[in-house]
Amino acid sequence: MVENVVIIGSGPAGLSAALYTAREGFNPIVIAGTDEGGQLLLTTTVENYPAFPDGITGPQLIDNMRMQAERQGARFAHEYVKDVDLTSKPIKVVTDKATYLSKSLIIASGASSKWIGLESESKFIGRGVSSCATCDGPLFKNKDVIVVGGGDTAMEDSLFLTGFAKSVTLIHRRNEFKASRIMQDRLRSNPKIRIILDTTIDEILGDARVTSVRIKGVKTGKTEEIKTDGVFIAIGHKPNTEFLNGKLKLDDGGYIITRNIVETDIDGVYVGGDVADKEYRQAVTAAGTGTMCALKVRHYLQSH
Ligand SMILES: Cc1cc2nc3c(=O)[nH]c(=O)nc-3n(C[C@H](O)[C@H](O)[C@H](O)COP(=O)(O)OP(=O)(O)OC[C@H]3O[C@@H](n4cnc5c(N)ncnc54)[C@H](O)[C@@H]3O)c2cc1C
Repeated sequence: MVENVVIIGSGPAGLSAALYTAREGFNPIVIAGTDEGGQLLLTTTVENYPAFPDGITGPQLIDNMRMQAERQGARFAHEYVKDVDLTSKPIKVVTDKATYLSKSLIIASGASSKWIGLESESKFIGRGVSSCATCDGPLFKNKDVIVVGGGDTAMEDSLFLTGFAKSVTLIHRRNEFKASRIMQDRLRSNPKIRIILDTTIDEILGDARVTSVRIKGVKTGKTEEIKTDGVFIAIGHKPNTEFLNGKLKLDDGGYIITRNIVETDIDGVYVGGDVADKEYRQAVTAAGTGTMCALKVRHYLQSH
């Protein structure tokens, strides 16, 4: 059997693509992946997705998207993609359980935030620990927050958070930043920002939510507890592209390179959401580019 369209990923991009292609009658199949629902499952409150004036939890938003796509006829496979053959016609998608043949493909496999790796960090994700300052910064009005990292993202996040938080403490494990000089200057001249270098987070502490962190001097080994309401991990993202095995071009950061936002060099193969987006990384932009992929698939299927 040859599918009209296979969609890789079940985050906002994949689910929007599923909704649109299902409504068009293309009977899409979504390969949901091991993180079914995607990154929004890591957050409690989403206040910036249009149409929810009182906000909505990340898991509920994803449930709604999935139900809506399913109601229109989208099918879901609880599998993950291990390999693809994009040059064969039909395209071949190999998962851990099956091989799919398809006329077209939408890649919406997202990205994963890099985390420090502490058990207490996973425990408090969505309860004071976040990897998305744009998303969660406004939830920390007049609070004390910590940012972890030393690159441009950590600088940008720290500066952005000063618009809401009472204080921002930037913690970096080395004694100098990787970030550009201009960002560093802006950071150092901001009176709300305190910088602690040569230091790591040893433990994140709290009850229902984060209340403090224990930090540790890299050279001294000395520990100290500092109070905080939030911890923003800003040490980078890793786009989920292992299954491509080099079959599409990636940029230096591992993001898929696209033309006209969602097109690739291969006809019938489109890319939406965070796997190609290192700039915006929002649910609504992922849903938007997922929709663009679906509209491209419609044109492609009509003309092939
Ligand atoms: C802590 C946190 C809080 C956030 N808060 C907000 C917020 O408040 N508002 C907002 O707009 N945005 C928020 N975001 C950002 C938002 O979650 C992302 O921009 C959005 O989820 C990206 O959607 P996506 O569909 O591109 O990818 P993702 O959500 O990353 O989903 C990727 C999907 O691809 C699947 N996948 C990966 N590899 C494979 C494979 N090999 N085979 C099959 N499937 C695969 C995964 O299982 C997953 O289902 C937050 C992010 C984080 C981390």
